[in-house]
Amino acid sequence: MTQTLSYKPTFTKLVSKEGSAEYPLKAIHVCEETFAPLEVAYDYEAIKAQVSREKIAQGPNSIWRYKPFLPVESENPIDLGTGMTPLIKSNRLARRLGLKHLYIKNDAVNMPTLSFKDRVVSVALTRAKELGFTTVSCASTGNLANSTAAIAAHAGLDCCVFIPADLEAGKILGTLIYNPTVMAVKGNYDQVNRLCCEIANTYGWGFVNINLRPYYSEGSKTLAFEVAEQLGWRLPDHIVAPLASGSLFTKIYKGFQEFVKVGLVEDKPVRCSGAQAEGCAPIAKAFKEGRDFVAPVKPNTIAKSIAIGNPADGIYALEIARKTNGYIETATDAEIIEGIKLLAETEGIFTETAGRSTIAVLKKLVESGRIDPEETVVVYITGNGLKTQEAVQGYLCEPLVIEPKLESFERALERSRTLERLEWQQVIV
Ligand SMILES: *Cc1c(COP(=O)(O)O)cnc(C)c1O
Repeated sequence: MTQTLSYKPTFTKLVSKEGSAEYPLKAIHVCEETFAPLEVAYDYEAIKAQVSREKIAQGPNSIWRYKPFLPVESENPIDLGTGMTPLIKSNRLARRLGLKHLYIKNDAVNMPTLSFKDRVVSVALTRAKELGFTTVSCASTGNLANSTAAIAAHAGLDCCVFIPADLEAGKILGTLIYNPTVMAVKGNYDQVNRLCCEIANTYGWGFVNINLRPYYSEGSKTLAFEVAEQLGWRLPDHIVAPLASGSLFTKIYKGFQEFVKVGLVEDKPVRCSGAQAEGCAPIAKAFKEGRDFVAPVKPNTIAKSIAIGNPADGIYALEIARKTNGYIETATDAEIIEGIKLLAETEGIFTETAGRSTIAVLKKLVESGRIDPEETVVVYITGNGLKTQEAVQGYLCEPLVIEPKLESFERALERSRTLERLEWQQVIV
């Protein structure tokens, strides 16, 4: 297994996303000339010379099977079994929506902290160690703090995370358990992020989503690689993913393109559609109004993990949705809560608010004819519902409380069947 990881490094420099400026492979994230984000560049000939479908398939059962596409050198990257989450062929949800070929990429069961963020953090902290950082940090809407704290603990790095003070209890507990320093900031995510930018410049810490962001964000490409491999080395026709900063969305697109570039899959257009919560939808708003800039908004939604009012990669996500003939749609909080029932009842998957907005948007895109029933569609479920239980409390049935006696059970069963029948009659009437 370790043998498959001894690839020659293939990443060569950081480049500006606007203009032609180039930078060395250090902990920097913005272009000094244009203030545009920096992006990792690769030598694709070097990747091509080292990869094959067989070699990847024989690699570790984690994101590190795609190591030549990731910006790390170490032969022993941090590996807690992140990635290779199930790609599930949907039958019941697909039928309900009228789709023929729907797949669910289920990062609600990603390791170690049950969200897609484990992918980006595994890459960022591996790179942080290579760059000599001993303290790592992040500005988080919740999942990122869970992930950074857990993976830093495993890697023996000191950790200090910053979260908005009003986060869901499950997200806070799910960070504290790893015993990092937790700063709960009285403000929203965008304020947390601004504070962290100031700290990153002065404290010499590795902030996974600030000064390490070019490396961090590359981890999201594995969401594309895995889907292509799990579909039998082919690309889907259409993907639907949630948008917060927009990073994940842009990297899924980049991942598909890279697989084409090195000849691992055949080229074909992949339509990329995005989901935002209506209470925080700066990218969807720009998309629908035909603008090419994203005006910041103040978030107000239960989908806290995707509530970023000033999205760093918003314009790049816009560009991709437009050029791939995708669409960016929103879901209201009520529709998001409906999404829980739909995905849980039809597929047995309990996703968090971000995932539900994706399901709600998937439904809208089918109903408005923007998704063709014949298309092979992959919907990305990025987080786990057990972390955000308060979002659905009060919307679910109560358990039937009974005595430990057969007749008590039988009475309750009869009552519940009558209730069901009544509900059915109401539906039919
Ligand atoms: C962070 C997050 C996202 C979106 O991430 P971006 O790359 O910032 O767009 C989506 N879903 C969940 C559950 C997240 O935690």
